[in-house]
Amino acid sequence: MEYTKEQITELKDSILFKKRNVYEVLDEAEIEKMEAFCKGYVKYLDASKTEREAVNEGIALAIAKGFREYHFGDAVKAGDKLYFNNRGKELLLFIIGSENLENGIRISAAHIDSPRIDLKQHPLYEDAGMAFFKTHYYGGIKKYQWTATPLAIHGTVMKSDGTVVDIVVGEDDSDPVFYIDDLLPHLGRGQSSRPLGEAIQGEQLNILIGSRPLNTDGEIKLAIMKLLNEKYGIVEGDFMSAELSVVPAFKARDIGFDRSLIGGYGHDDRVCAYPALAAILEKEAPVHTLMAILADKEEVGSGGNTGMKCSVFIDLIASLSKTLGANEYLVRFNSKCLSADVNAAYDPNFGDVYEARNSSFINKGVVMTKYTGSGGKSGTSDASAEFVGYVRNMFDKAGIVWQTGELGKVDAGGGGTVAVYIAEKNIDVVDLGVPVLSMHAPYEVIAKADIYMAYKAFSVFCD
Ligand code: MN
Ligand code: MN
Repeated sequence: MEYTKEQITELKDSILFKKRNVYEVLDEAEIEKMEAFCKGYVKYLDASKTEREAVNEGIALAIAKGFREYHFGDAVKAGDKLYFNNRGKELLLFIIGSENLENGIRISAAHIDSPRIDLKQHPLYEDAGMAFFKTHYYGGIKKYQWTATPLAIHGTVMKSDGTVVDIVVGEDDSDPVFYIDDLLPHLGRGQSSRPLGEAIQGEQLNILIGSRPLNTDGEIKLAIMKLLNEKYGIVEGDFMSAELSVVPAFKARDIGFDRSLIGGYGHDDRVCAYPALAAILEKEAPVHTLMAILADKEEVGSGGNTGMKCSVFIDLIASLSKTLGANEYLVRFNSKCLSADVNAAYDPNFGDVYEARNSSFINKGVVMTKYTGSGGKSGTSDASAEFVGYVRNMFDKAGIVWQTGELGKVDAGGGGTVAVYIAEKNIDVVDLGVPVLSMHAPYEVIAKADIYMAYKAFSVFCD
């Protein structure tokens, strides 16, 4: 039988799937809202270069919206807007819903730590007339990307008298910045012939911090320590009880003639943390109990008592359950979670590592990642067809532009998110986030349209 052109079009429209571009559905008014939302995001991103700063920023935003601090065992009632500050490095926010807690909690879980370079415990030394800090990088970085670029130092030092000083240098335009030197190409023949991953060694990621001697005899290290002592009241031994991190010194800004993209440090995963946070902050008296988790340590495996492997979030669920007379096993069993993390946006410059039919694309909306893992889905929680179907229908009904994603070609590598640590607590979970170009680079890129759809998605999930 022969089909007419019209019949074929009709068939295609009715039974074939077509990915949408967010700009197909955004009218002028929505684009204005998107721009306003992204302005808020850029502000948050610049103020949140470490997990501690992201927690402080999150608390400030939450307090402005009427949230108050929760302590284990506090009495709570429907409509209460609460936050739990886990050791200054992880933030959990929740709003008590009007329905029975046993119907489950709507949880969004993102991480607020990003790849960076940490100082060692004995960092300060001088060599060849210069002072340096020794470092140990944090998370999966391509070491060569961190050389020959302006860097800032952020962190916290606990002094021997028990007082704590916060340090941020390199963000204000009047601040100095820091630097990791690289080899000049003229002498780089040996370096250039090594594999990319070995071109810069971990022990070469030393931060240049000064060169002026204390007196004509030298003593550059002493001169730097004297400066730090005068400014922060710290002595060399205080580095042992410090968390000082080196991050890119540049600020987030629009990319492209059309300003459709945003470049910035730490989109992974603040580009998901911010929309998840914004979504819960705008809710008043929800039906479901809502929870947003902004966790630390994802980039190093989610360990520690501020990472998603820590029991704090199920302890909070247990504590709320006890207070409200709910069975916590039922609460968890009926809870639903969006694990809010980024995926790799398809990059045509490196097309060979992606499988384009199943990759996420810039401007095609928020990306749902059914499974992560590597080498045959190893390490994934792999969301069920039923849960993916539930989320899919919810988004389609609300007009959310979303896409599916897979990190890359099956055997190209892989990675994981916090989803697996939530699933093992008997909670339905699927990954949802924003596609990122140059993930884990000092300056990553996302599309405004995608973060805006992520915000709308987290918001609908809360309703
Ligand atoms: Mn991530
Ligand atoms: Mn990451």
